[in-house]
Amino acid sequence: MTSDITVPEMCIYLRNGIEIWVERNKAELFGRDLVAGNKSIVQINGQYINTVEIVGIFDPVYLQELKYRKMGMWKCKFETWHEREGVCTCYEKQNARKTQEKLESMKLTPEEREKSAQSLRKLRGKYGI
Ligand SMILES: [Zn+2]
Repeated sequence: MTSDITVPEMCIYLRNGIEIWVERNKAELFGRDLVAGNKSIVQINGQYINTVEIVGIFDPVYLQELKYRKMGMWKCKFETWHEREGVCTCYEKQNARKTQEKLESMKLTPEEREKSAQSLRKLRGKYGI
């Protein structure tokens, strides 16, 4: 038994920001037409669109990244998006997390535990985590 339910998977993204979502198969066929470049007006989902208005045909992940970049955001080497003026503290956050895990796995006396809790609070305060 086959299912008739199809989920739009690719976005035909226009210069004016309009998104036309189509099935991946349709998008691929449409993309071939675009690459061939033999049509100046194309029909998509019943609309007739000038091909010069098309920025590209993107999958959801790429489209989201495109939008983030347009907003001036940037992705650090930890694959995390940051605001335009944002500073990446991913490394420090990761380190603090590792330190915490290490401390939690150690058998400490109550005094040692209090001391490490204090330094962890300091780290957290410094990086706002
Ligand atoms: Zn980062």
